[in-house]
Amino acid sequence: TAAGTTCLQTKDMTMAFGGLIANDKVSEVLKAGTVHSVIGPNGAGKSTFINCVSGFYRPTSGSIEFMGQIATAKQSHQLARMGLARTFQNTELFGDMTCLENVLVGADSRYRSGLFATLLRLPSYFHDERRYAAEARCLLEYVGLDDYAEEKARNLPFGHQRRLEIARALAMSPKLLLLDEPAAGLTHGEIEDLMKLIRNLASHQITVLLVEHHVDMIMAVSDHVTVLDYGKVIASGTVAEVRSNPAVIEAYFGT
Ligand code: ADP
Ligand code: MG
Repeated sequence: TAAGTTCLQTKDMTMAFGGLIANDKVSEVLKAGTVHSVIGPNGAGKSTFINCVSGFYRPTSGSIEFMGQIATAKQSHQLARMGLARTFQNTELFGDMTCLENVLVGADSRYRSGLFATLLRLPSYFHDERRYAAEARCLLEYVGLDDYAEEKARNLPFGHQRRLEIARALAMSPKLLLLDEPAAGLTHGEIEDLMKLIRNLASHQITVLLVEHHVDMIMAVSDHVTVLDYGKVIASGTVAEVRSNPAVIEAYFGT
């Protein structure tokens, strides 16, 4: 994807749960190969935004375009095939399976053409199980879990489990990776590693949509920040722009 192209765009996207407007006419553009973060207080509508763009919720009104295609009424598995991958706010790994197996199930056969070929620059013509396993090992190495390939996922420290989730999502060769609070429960050192990983993904033209509570992390890692408050976008721009926005300072930083 060329620099400056749009990966995902929402137009007046609204999600109502009964009388509660969880996303209120959200119009945002995610540029390809950038880290785009969504912040806001608890209940602001961050997870709802991710759930709408990933097809888990169907927006009440408005539209979504992903990679130049209308994505508004598409289901999550269709969006996954188009290159949209996500992790969940609560880890959903297969505890009894090894790390390697967890990555392999992330790559459903339909998505396996060129498992993460962009990053690893692997030829995509050799499609057999051994090849997948080799590629899955490369992904584990990429996220720093190469020593844990045969370990059961449940035996991993929590921070490692989060990285395994990311490896599993990357096995789908995504164009867009959605991360909902990936730093929750991580140590300072683990957050540093996660930030490096996220920047590296963006440098490989994988767009990252990041929802995070951890404001320092957001400010350090993001190209673009969207601030939600009661479902509405109150600010959207670069870190510097958002930091100096009076509405943000008042509503979010509370100073
Ligand atoms: P955040 O992730 O920013 O904490 P959410 O997107 O989870 O916020 O929630 C935004 C609002 O929408 C909250 O008031 C929440 O209770 C409500 N909400 C989210 N999902 C649902 C749902 N499936 N049904 C009803 N209300 C929901
Ligand atoms: Mg949330």
